[in-house]
Amino acid sequence: MDEFCTSIHCMDGRIQEPVIRFLKARYQVKYVDVITEPGPCRILAENRDKELVKSIVERINISVMKHKSQLIAVSGHHDCAGNPCDADTQKNQIKKSIDFCRDLYPNIDMIGLWIDNNWEVTVFAEDVQARPAGPDIK
Ligand SMILES: [Zn+2]
Repeated sequence: MDEFCTSIHCMDGRIQEPVIRFLKARYQVKYVDVITEPGPCRILAENRDKELVKSIVERINISVMKHKSQLIAVSGHHDCAGNPCDADTQKNQIKKSIDFCRDLYPNIDMIGLWIDNNWEVTVFAEDVQARPAGPDIK
């Protein structure tokens, strides 16, 4: 059981508990390191605000390097004030955010989450084949 995973999600108070609860239950982690910004999937997908992107990456680094997180979740949610665009647009931004993180962390699993109008969390993108097979796996 990994102790930590990493979640990059919106600062919106409505999604905090659902996201953390979901990740703990589905991935059997003890703790979820949380990196919040208003609509962070837009920030990473656009990669325009370099200072802010750098700050997010510094926080991911702590989670991955110090806490040995093996999973990064990027999410978007219904009715996001910081990123007021529809679900499909946000899902595309999340996929781009995963691509962005993939370049930095080739060996970490990545997932994309959507939080709907009932504050229910679903996985819609998974990039979990990244880890090289261990020496005992042929
Ligand atoms: Zn939001």
